[in-house]
Amino acid sequence: MALSSVPDRPDQLDRSLLPFPGWNAFTEGHWLAAGQGRLAVQRCSRCGAHRWPPNPACYHCTSMEWDWADLPGTGTVYSYTWVDEPPQGVMAVLGTYNITIVELDGVEGEPVRMMGRVVDIEKDDLVCGLRVNVDFEPIDAEIARPVWRAAR
Ligand SMILES: [Zn+2]
Repeated sequence: MALSSVPDRPDQLDRSLLPFPGWNAFTEGHWLAAGQGRLAVQRCSRCGAHRWPPNPACYHCTSMEWDWADLPGTGTVYSYTWVDEPPQGVMAVLGTYNITIVELDGVEGEPVRMMGRVVDIEKDDLVCGLRVNVDFEPIDAEIARPVWRAAR
């Protein structure tokens, strides 16, 4: 099943097939927040540092205590590449697409960067430093995938 299509019934989707960072105890809060239109990353309960990708311990102070924190959903393109060869499998529906690293706004501590995709953009318009806003592509009735759109 193509992940970009919303299944008729939520139980038709095998969440173990979700793309990075996958579905597990350290990521499900991120996917569920996205399903509600929120961009959530982990935040250390001791020092307040945000982090991504999900990890059991804080990169800064090694605390294992954390919670989910919503970010504003804005950021800046840090790096990107284009995939011109149509991929196989569930990604084939994308055709030519970009893989983009977005540096997220609203974080404490070191910069937090998230890999994703800028949608509805021409190659010449995707540049480092571009301001982007998060959007969400529904995956099933509960969860969604964050994607990015150029800020207007
Ligand atoms: Zn910490």
